[in-house]
Amino acid sequence: MDAVEFRTRGKEMVDYIADYMENVAQRRVTPAVEPGYLRQRLPENAPQHPEEWDEIMDDVEQHIMPGMTHWQHPRFHAYFPAGNSYPSIMGDMLSDAIGCVGFSWAASPACTELETIVLDWLGRMIALPKEFLPFTEGAKGGGVIQGSASECILVSMLAARQHTIRELKKQHPFVEEGVLLSKLMAYCSKEAHSSVEKAAMIAFVKIRILETDDKYALRGTKLAKAIQEDRNMGLIPFYVSTTLGTTSCCSFDALSEVGPVCKEENVWLHVDAAYAGSAFICPQFRYLMKGVEFAMSFNTNPNKWMLVNFDCSAMWVRDKYKLTEALIVDPLYLKHSHSDKAIDYRHWGIPLSRRFRSLKLWFVIRSYGVEGLRRYILEHCRLAKKMEMLIREDSRFEIMNQVTLGLVCFRLHGSNALNEKFLSSLNASGKLHMVPASLSERYVIRFCVCSQTASDQDIEEAWAIIRDMASDVIQLLAK
Ligand code: PLP
Repeated sequence: MDAVEFRTRGKEMVDYIADYMENVAQRRVTPAVEPGYLRQRLPENAPQHPEEWDEIMDDVEQHIMPGMTHWQHPRFHAYFPAGNSYPSIMGDMLSDAIGCVGFSWAASPACTELETIVLDWLGRMIALPKEFLPFTEGAKGGGVIQGSASECILVSMLAARQHTIRELKKQHPFVEEGVLLSKLMAYCSKEAHSSVEKAAMIAFVKIRILETDDKYALRGTKLAKAIQEDRNMGLIPFYVSTTLGTTSCCSFDALSEVGPVCKEENVWLHVDAAYAGSAFICPQFRYLMKGVEFAMSFNTNPNKWMLVNFDCSAMWVRDKYKLTEALIVDPLYLKHSHSDKAIDYRHWGIPLSRRFRSLKLWFVIRSYGVEGLRRYILEHCRLAKKMEMLIREDSRFEIMNQVTLGLVCFRLHGSNALNEKFLSSLNASGKLHMVPASLSERYVIRFCVCSQTASDQDIEEAWAIIRDMASDVIQLLAK
């Protein structure tokens, strides 16, 4: 494809994308295919000769689209939102065209500098403590874009591990690092995302998963007791990952209790606000982050609830040197003449190569403005409250979480098996998509407001599908 054809095909693609976005509601939200469906439809081997573009695009519609779960569908209410918007798509298009690999400042100065500036903007937008922001006088903090919240959690744990072992080595210079490592203990709550447990697996440290209170929040006393028990057994507590907006039910750990415990015990506090972090753009939700001033690191995913396409996970650290100390490897071929004063983001994460991800974040923030983003978040929260009210009015259902942001957890009165059958029938219908969670051993159904254009009518239509399916399932099981 040359530039002339690209101009034509590119414009067609923009039309295809706009048509897709405008008409996605006419498709099934979940596909009706079985594993292996695509292998039966596509050739066994790659083509020897170039194929026509029209044929390729025909196959997209014929074979790829039928196998898609449409995350931008107005009846998609599973997981959390998968951020998307036209400015963000265009940011990624431009980033792909520029095609830089911004691992160091010299590898593309604007790529590094825009990332630093936009994360400084975003940090201020969500009211992070000023120590996290690089342009604050004397601050050692800074922000970086990682590929996922899982990566943010892992690198924060690696930084905490490195820092702790370094400190311990000062006190016990003759003890092997492996011995010290075997004593390190990390903590999170039962409602923390599974990526915390995975990070501990990768970092080769022990992890203790703590019970929450009846609001699914980790409390300070629970953590303090666990730390004390572990110290009594000769273990070394070094890291706590807390969650603001848990995946299962959007609960909030009691940061203002957990923070002082971490400070007292000299333990690294990480805050995972992958979904809920975007809500802090709205001042009325900032009470939920009280205690964040105790954190050493913080992450939120604009690619969830801030209209930015995957991948874009923002992370801030209070002390960038503690992060880079854990990750720095510096061969000659990657050095450059400004290494001493410029940021080289390759030292802030796991991969060397990095996409120009800040471009789409910049496009989105500028296109919507802080006010526009606030309106979008508040509208989702209003619609979630509306769904909560509709569910509460039907006595066959119960609400299972405190609806604070865009997530409503509910279930039918009755057994877990009944609710499992209910949800699988809903998902099999292709009309609406939700996923379950387990809260206090009970099977609950998560309804998240996801679509960027979600409206009152969407909520009413979703509720009608849920209500009617409940009648069908209850009737079927009564036979
Ligand atoms: N943390 C929380 C609270 C989440 O809800 C999720 C995913 O939904 C993650 C972490 C993992 O996110 P990622 O897919 O970016 O690794």
